Amino acid sequence: MPTTALYRDDFYLATAEGVVTRIHEDGAIELDQTCFYATSGGQPGDTGLFERADGSKIEIALTRHGESKDIILHQPAEGQALPSIGEKLVLHVDWPRRYKLMRMHTACHLLSVVCPYPITGAAVGEDESRVDFDMGETIDKEQVTADMMRLVEENHPVFVQWITDEELAANPAIVKSKNVRPPIGMGRVSLVCIGENSSVDSQPCGGTHVSETQEVGAIHIAKIEKKGKENRRFRIRFGTPEALT
Ligand SMILES: [Zn+2]
Repeated sequence: MPTTALYRDDFYLATAEGVVTRIHEDGAIELDQTCFYATSGGQPGDTGLFERADGSKIEIALTRHGESKDIILHQPAEGQALPSIGEKLVLHVDWPRRYKLMRMHTACHLLSVVCPYPITGAAVGEDESRVDFDMGETIDKEQVTADMMRLVEENHPVFVQWITDEELAANPAIVKSKNVRPPIGMGRVSLVCIGENSSVDSQPCGGTHVSETQEVGAIHIAKIEKKGKENRRFRIRFGTPEALT
């Protein structure tokens, strides 16, 4: 049975109720619905707690997709008691961690705006994110930081627009990633749009993002590494760049 992914319609949903529909051999818990994001598109899955009716807690170490994209599995930490089928649980996402991932993920989109090269890979992390670009040029990281921070400070709205797989197929130019497949196959694709009428950017993405760019806060490019002649790896970190000595 497909899991209703509540986070798709509300990135800020930190708590929800879910009913256990299946326990897998490895202990993974399947629910009818969840607010826990499952690892995909470079964004790690959520961690957190499930609260049982008696008040006891089940610690969730990882959330991932099952055999298909519409199944979401919650992997309990080592040694946790497992709930029973039909049991109702209150789901609590580790919100400070997820919110950092949302800020970081949005920062990756801003980087792709100020650095408009094809993306060959990306990994969102709570302390550092990396984005790889197909580019041979050398670029000044202070300038990239300044350009990203301008977009943060301009406080553009960030919102999702749904388009059909067919509409995406008809507009292949909106896909910036070369190796990361857009989240197709579910009939509809979420476009993450930045700015009024998507004036800053729009990009197919199934991750979670903040709702306005100011929420990203202070970020900077900590490092640009040369990964071969035609590849540059950018590392984004929170905070302002450390003063050069
Ligand atoms: Zn995204």
